Amino acid sequence: MNVTFYGAVREVTGSMHLLTTDYDRILMDCGMFQGRRKEAAEKNRVLPFDPRVITNVVLSHAHIDHSGRIPLLTSSDFAGRVICTRPTAAACDFLLPDSAHIQESDANYLNYKSVRSVLSQMKSSDRGKKSTKRENRAIKKLLKKTRHDLDVETIDHLIRKYRLESVRPLYTVADAEQALTYFDNYPYRHPISIGQEMTCTFYDAGHILGSAITVIRAQENDRHYNICYSGDIGRFDKPIIKDPTLDFVEEDCNIDLLIMESTYGDRLHEPVQDLKPRLKEVLEDTYNRKGTVLIPSFAFGRTQELLYVLHELYDNNEVPRFPIYVDSPLATKLTKVFGEHPEVYDEETHDTFLEQGKNPFLFDQIHFIGSVEDSIALNKEEKPHIVVAASGMCEGGRILHHLRYKIHNSRNTILFVGYQAQHTLGRRLLEQGREYEKSGRKGAPPLMKILNKEYPLNAQVSDIGGFSAHADKNEMLRFLKESNLRIKKIAIVHGEEDQALALAETLKSEGYSVIVPRKGEMVRVQ
Ligand SMILES: [Zn+2]
Repeated sequence: MNVTFYGAVREVTGSMHLLTTDYDRILMDCGMFQGRRKEAAEKNRVLPFDPRVITNVVLSHAHIDHSGRIPLLTSSDFAGRVICTRPTAAACDFLLPDSAHIQESDANYLNYKSVRSVLSQMKSSDRGKKSTKRENRAIKKLLKKTRHDLDVETIDHLIRKYRLESVRPLYTVADAEQALTYFDNYPYRHPISIGQEMTCTFYDAGHILGSAITVIRAQENDRHYNICYSGDIGRFDKPIIKDPTLDFVEEDCNIDLLIMESTYGDRLHEPVQDLKPRLKEVLEDTYNRKGTVLIPSFAFGRTQELLYVLHELYDNNEVPRFPIYVDSPLATKLTKVFGEHPEVYDEETHDTFLEQGKNPFLFDQIHFIGSVEDSIALNKEEKPHIVVAASGMCEGGRILHHLRYKIHNSRNTILFVGYQAQHTLGRRLLEQGREYEKSGRKGAPPLMKILNKEYPLNAQVSDIGGFSAHADKNEMLRFLKESNLRIKKIAIVHGEEDQALALAETLKSEGYSVIVPRKGEMVRVQ
């Protein structure tokens, strides 16, 4: 029996590990690599095995870096099933088609750009002069149906005509819809048959609605083996979902190999308890300035946690009650998924909301914005309010339009509640905003490029770290030490190399046997 590590190896995205026994091949997650567009596209395009050999996929949770390549698998002769928890399947119903839609629009846009540039070059070489503004306008008109809608048929036709290289999406919305028919969902703590003399059991991982720590029990050569895959491990004492599991059933306790994440292998987070007072402070300050709070937020998880905490603050009259707008159709759908799975909430959520007959995510001041027209109208709203919109790192989505309208005014606040990766607009706003603040707002404010135009960053910039969905170093140690698992060996994945290696050192000093596999490395389970 062995495990081969194909993705999220000395990096964070692209989770994918293959368990091979005498009879079966079980894929643990089938995630998408994310990052710089070209590099990620290259890594995502080809699966490192023939999909026909995979018995089943065990999916730890719905995040795209764990689930995003399933449509690629199911559109190429995969004959197994995708096994996951009920909320994970429900969330994938929206996340996978949304991921496909983003890839289709990206491909269309790149194709539009290459056709546009070829047509413009042809015009200019006709006369040996740069193409005129009028000619460029005509080209754009030819390639677009309306101002925001590309004419995909014309673009495709011209790509074929001029034999240009066309960009294809990794998979289409139709592929994603088809992938969903492969999903089988199960409750937590319930053994599921996934191969010959092989079961898997899901336990709460505390990371996101539906997230699971998986224990796979397998038999080979008259011996039992237990493989545990942590997926992403959440923090303790966070609102809504249960904490990471510490008590596993006895048959699952002896672990031959634990495959464990290490996103924050060498970092410590702000305490969870500080989250509410920090949010309260930001809301009060902005309200006193008669400003608006813009919160860039991931549609799945972060948005619902925010709504939960805001609901509590509003119910206890701890903050001024400005209206809250969730301006993201995807977040609206996923909030509904959260509402439909109270069986996975923690006790506190039951006590605070459900037993009072309340839905944690719905209250008087919350408004869900659907149509583009309503979103545009909200951009122009002057009265103080709160907007929660995607994307969480300001790389696209409706948050960009809210920023365009609100960034120049020092009354407003841009509040970050999630990690801002390098090379994103979110990171630039956060870093330059902080610096400007530190300088005492001296001189001209930094200029921020949003949708190809520059805007002065006058709005206040704040961030709250306590919302993180990943355990920090101490919380991972707590999981290992306080759980009843008896672990023979740990393979560390899902962390940048420095974080993975640092966690390995920490665990070795605690007496664990640890490896940090490289990409494509196979580890024998014995
Ligand atoms: Zn995750």
